[in-house]
Amino acid sequence: MALKTTHMAQEDLFKKLIAHCKEYGYVFPSSEIYDGLGAVYDYGQYGVELKNNIKKYWWDSMVLLHENIVGIDSAIFMHPTIWKASGHVDAFNDPLIDNRDSKKRYRADVLIEEELAKIEGKIEKEVDKARNRFGESFDEGQFRATNARVLESQTKWDELHNRFAEALNNSDLVELKQIIEDNGIVCPISGTRNWTDVRQFNLMFSTDMGSTADGALKIYLRPETAQGIFVNYLNVQKSGRMKIPFGIAQIGKAFRNEIVARQFIFRMREFEQMELQFFVRPGTELDWFEKWKVLRIKWHQALGFGNENYRFHVHEKLAHYANAAVDIEYKFPFGFKEVEGIHSRTDYDLSQHQKFSGKKIQYFDPELNESYVPFVVETSIGVDRMFLQIISASYHEEIVEDANGQKDTRVVLRLPAPLAPVKLAVMPLIKKDGLPEKAREIIEELKFDFNCQYDEKDSIGKRYRRQDAIGTPFCVTVDPETAGDNTVTIRYRDTMLQERVQIGQLREIILNQVGFRKLFNQLN
Ligand code: ATP
Repeated sequence: MALKTTHMAQEDLFKKLIAHCKEYGYVFPSSEIYDGLGAVYDYGQYGVELKNNIKKYWWDSMVLLHENIVGIDSAIFMHPTIWKASGHVDAFNDPLIDNRDSKKRYRADVLIEEELAKIEGKIEKEVDKARNRFGESFDEGQFRATNARVLESQTKWDELHNRFAEALNNSDLVELKQIIEDNGIVCPISGTRNWTDVRQFNLMFSTDMGSTADGALKIYLRPETAQGIFVNYLNVQKSGRMKIPFGIAQIGKAFRNEIVARQFIFRMREFEQMELQFFVRPGTELDWFEKWKVLRIKWHQALGFGNENYRFHVHEKLAHYANAAVDIEYKFPFGFKEVEGIHSRTDYDLSQHQKFSGKKIQYFDPELNESYVPFVVETSIGVDRMFLQIISASYHEEIVEDANGQKDTRVVLRLPAPLAPVKLAVMPLIKKDGLPEKAREIIEELKFDFNCQYDEKDSIGKRYRRQDAIGTPFCVTVDPETAGDNTVTIRYRDTMLQERVQIGQLREIILNQVGFRKLFNQLN
């Protein structure tokens, strides 16, 4: 049987992914029968399982594997002064710009970042072309340092990048617009340069708590889960007798009124974050920042999607609270994009809460015999972006040949087994002679350990394909021989190989692959 992965344009791939997510119960547009709601999505029967498994992978890697990390679950509603103290009321803005012809709205910074990515793309194309031409003897470093076209593009990139970084750091909206004009950036819809001025737009949603009669309180839907951790720092430190360095982890919903919400679940208005705030002694934060960078990229790479598909991206502009920041980017079908942010947040947040609440938020360090406001290193990752990363990396279309030489396309989600929504499907070869009962018996035994699915409809080949499409790593088939010798066929999703095994062996074979231990072992 010949196997070949088909190559398709990345844009097509992305469209197919979105359609696949809907067709197979992973992700649905929110309120679809009412024509949807911009950038809000619902997770279906398989989507929620994958999401829960992602959360478990993250949570356990933090809370189980580190004795100095504990978790909390804080409320979404918080006292509004928290967002004053954190700086979100005054500074949680994105620069927006409209195109007068298409009436479309964009983030000015994203338009410029896309222009930078275009130049990078040009350089990569030149390098690829040369690599193909020179073959084995190709010296990439030398080519990049000497080729005239590459150098010209690189100079252009450097100039644009420097100008952009400066404009961002100065919050210079006029200059941002000027950069867009000077670089001839056009609206992707209308193709024109008919831009409005750049304006700031606050991303927080607000609502009213309490009835207006007794003076309703304007509160915000949290735009990050981090503040729920900071305001509970003292509670956790005291009740848990935590000693610095220690971390508090949290998973929860966050809300941002994103200006442009495109690219499916990459940028949503309601999403979920997994955040760790790690409290350290002042002066040690940059060492911890480096340690967390290494730990976090390992966590991603353990999934086996290819280390070359990840990179660190250093921020052009540091947020008002940070003294170091880096993103982990993954190569999505639409290019390298942020999945996770790692930030050294200094003592900014705790100091601000100390100031605004009037409560002392400090740690007495018995080794130093002094009190201080701890410094914080944060790792912050979006569950939904992680979900998209996993689905993009797992989706494959393969040309397969059956025993008669007939070609067919197989769509398979090569999900890492511990994350797969359904771990095994049990199928009676035919719907009689006691085979369905035997299949049910196997499920009754294994359902306490694994998410199992029973399937008796259609030919066995069709059933395998259905399971491939949802990413089920194992299919177990019960046939007439089973009653006699207690054996079944186990079929492996990735290789499509089949093996005859004892029913009693199934649990161990499956557990070996779907347990999280394999992933966790790579994190040391
Ligand atoms: P971006 O530059 O893409 O807007 P950000 O730098 O504002 O993201 P952070 O504030 O660092 O993002 O948030 C941490 C993580 O939360 C991001 O790495 C991302 O995975 C996730 N995230 C942020 N905004 C969204 C969103 N609108 N939809 C889905 N996930 C998001």
